[in-house]
Amino acid sequence: MPTIPTVTLNDGTAFPELGLGTYNLREASGVDAMVAGISAGYRLLDSAVNYKNEREVGEAVRRAGGELGVARDEILVTTKVPGRDHGYDPTMASAEASVAALGLDRIDLYLIHWPNPSVGKYLETWQAMIALREAGLVGSIGVSNFTEAMLTELIDETGVTPAVNQVELHPYFPQAALRAFHRERGIRTESWSPLARRSELLTESVIADIAAAHGVTPTQAVLRWHVQLGSTAIPKSANPERQVENADIFGFELTDDEVAAISGLERGRLWDGDPNHHEEM
Ligand code: NAP
Repeated sequence: MPTIPTVTLNDGTAFPELGLGTYNLREASGVDAMVAGISAGYRLLDSAVNYKNEREVGEAVRRAGGELGVARDEILVTTKVPGRDHGYDPTMASAEASVAALGLDRIDLYLIHWPNPSVGKYLETWQAMIALREAGLVGSIGVSNFTEAMLTELIDETGVTPAVNQVELHPYFPQAALRAFHRERGIRTESWSPLARRSELLTESVIADIAAAHGVTPTQAVLRWHVQLGSTAIPKSANPERQVENADIFGFELTDDEVAAISGLERGRLWDGDPNHHEEM
């Protein structure tokens, strides 16, 4: 079983440089896929209330303990507060409900799923998350889909910097300015849809050529690009062979020119997911 390296978050937590996305992994087959992922070396599972699979994530963690001998404390479980639970008291209740659904002792990384600026409650939600961390119900706290202005507001108003900002990030949308801001403020970048949901990305000739030069697959070249940008990618795969392939990216290194060439595929978001306008409940 390969070891996925970790980096240290701004709260001292050891955080994997690669995780497993779980969107659409549900029911018994979803649990099997997550257990296969843990067996392949993944120690970060990315869930959300809105993925309707917290129960499955908890079950996978318990099964990994029994079947693989991977202790609960070795796995980092992420879940996210949905838009409909924004606000101080609703967030406290939402966290309790997530812990119950997971059937675990705590949430390791708790994120605000979308800022939903027209609702105007992400600051209050952040204040609840700080209290949840102080109470020990959650380990690390962060956000998802936050802009530089929104992050600045949270930090200025509370003095607490999110440990993570999970955002859309792939070669078509490399997010250079936001990543630079994260670096400046000590926020770990996490990449969602890191393979651009597969799309045509994996057949781009730029990527195929770089992959061939290293004797790796196009997917591995893309996931290595995320590592070298300093972002934790969370590719979703339900397939055990592809999970193994995706995790095998720590034995080669892209040159600076190759990283730049992949970033040169920039053309924009996959869909209209601009967090200034797109809101999810
Ligand atoms: P993704 O990881 O970029 O792509 C997933 C797709 O790629 C699946 O169809 C998967 O199919 C395929 N795939 C995976 N590995 C492959 C390989 N080695 N070769 C060929 N195809 C491969 O897209 P995503 O699921 O949208 O994003 C990943 C995770 O990010 C999600 O699961 C979720 O946890 C998170 N996310 C968060 C947000 C947010 O707002 N915070 C939004 C979107 C997603 P198979 O399963 O068949 O392998």
